[in-house]
Amino acid sequence: MSCVAVLVDHDRGIPSGGALEALTAARPLAADLGVAVNAVVLGDGELFDAHGADLVAACAAYGAACVHRGRHALLADYGPDAWGAALAGFVEIAGPVAVVAAGTDRGAEAMAQLAARTDLPLVANCVDVSPAGSPADASSGRPAGEAWQITRIQWGGSLLEDVTLTSTLPLLTIAQHSVEAETANSSTTDVDVVDFEPELGPQVRQTLVRDRVTLTEGITLSTAPVVVSGGRGVGAADGFAPLEELAELLGGRVGCSRAVTNNGWRSHADQVGQTGTRIAPEIYIACGISGAIQHWVGAMGSKNILAINIDPEANMVTKAGYAVIADLHEVVPAICDEIRRRRDRPT
Ligand SMILES: Cc1cc2nc3c(=O)[nH]c(=O)nc-3n(C[C@H](O)[C@H](O)[C@H](O)COP(=O)(O)OP(=O)(O)OC[C@H]3O[C@@H](n4cnc5c(N)ncnc54)[C@H](O)[C@@H]3O)c2cc1C
Repeated sequence: MSCVAVLVDHDRGIPSGGALEALTAARPLAADLGVAVNAVVLGDGELFDAHGADLVAACAAYGAACVHRGRHALLADYGPDAWGAALAGFVEIAGPVAVVAAGTDRGAEAMAQLAARTDLPLVANCVDVSPAGSPADASSGRPAGEAWQITRIQWGGSLLEDVTLTSTLPLLTIAQHSVEAETANSSTTDVDVVDFEPELGPQVRQTLVRDRVTLTEGITLSTAPVVVSGGRGVGAADGFAPLEELAELLGGRVGCSRAVTNNGWRSHADQVGQTGTRIAPEIYIACGISGAIQHWVGAMGSKNILAINIDPEANMVTKAGYAVIADLHEVVPAICDEIRRRRDRPT
C-alpha cells in the first residue's frame, strides 16, 4: 500500500524532536491523500538490537502504521551520503507518494542527498502542504506529475512563501517548530515492521560520524524550557553571571545575541538566531537585546517572551508579551533574589 514516508532521523537510536514533528505534520497530508504514514529508520544490526523496539514504538506513537528499517553496516552511525543512498533504495522498493523529513541538519542533508540521487525537486522548510487537486497539464510544458500547494518559510523564518510544486514524488522537509509534536489518537502497538537492506557502495563512506565532542551537558538551547539570553546590553563576558544564576534557578539555559559572540563574550553554541540556534522555550527572557530580525527569527518560536531593556521602543520590547523597562544589571539580580526568597520561605 502506498504511503507518505517520513525519515525519522535519530542520534544513536534516539529520534530527534524534529522527526516527531515531521511524523505529526505528515498525518493530515496522508489523510488528505487517503494513504498511511510510514516511518523510515536507518541503522545497523547492533543499533536495531539495542534501540529497534523503542524506535518502532516511538514511530507508532506518532502515527506510523509501518516502520521500514534500513539495515546496513555502513548505517551504524549517521552519514549523509549513506542515509541519502539508503533512502533512494527505499523509494525504489516502496514507491511512496511523498517523502518527508524534519528540517533538522540531518533531515535536510539526507533529503538533499536523496534529491540529488533521484533527480527530484526538494522543497525545504515547509509549514503547510496539500495536493493542489489537478494533475499537471503536460501540454502546458510542465513536467508530468502531481501539483502540490506548499507554504514554506524563507529568509530564516521572516517570510512565508507560497509555492506550487509539480513532481512525481515530492520531497519535503518540515520547518522545525512549525508544528508541535503530538502523539496520534490512533497509535497502535500493532505496527508493521519491514526490514530492507539498501545497496550501499564504499563511496558513501565519504562523510561518516567518527567522534563526538559534547559542547553542552544536559538540556540544550533548542530544547530548554526556559532560555535567558543576553545581548550587547550585558556589557561584558562576566556580566553574564547573574543571567547564569537566573537560568539555573529556572532550570533553563543561557543564550545570547550575535553582538555577544562577535565580542567573544560567549561561544557561538549559545547564539540564538538566524545564524545560531532556533529556540522554542516556554519562556524567553531577553536581556539587553534589541531584537534585530536575524535574532527574532531564532526566538519567535518562544511561547512567552519577557524583554528587559532600557529602550521602550526596542523591537524585542514591542514584540514581547511582557517587558521591564529598566537596567538589566538591576532587574536580573532582583528577580533571582525574589525567586530565592520565595523558595526559601517556610511553607
Ligand atoms: C547575515 C546576518 C546574520 C545574523 N545572525 C544573527 C543571529 O543569528 N543572531 C543574532 O542575535 N544576531 C544576528 N545578526 C546580527 C543582528 O543583525 C544584530 O546586530 C544583533 O542581533 C544585535 O545584537 P544585540 O541586540 O545584542 O545588540 P544591539 O542591537 O546593540 O542591542 C543592544 C540592546 O541592549 C539594550 N541595552 C543596553 N544597555 C542595557 C542595559 N543596561 N539594560 C537593559 N538593556 C540595555 C539597548 O537598548 C539595545 O536594545 C545577524 C546579522 C546578519 C547581517
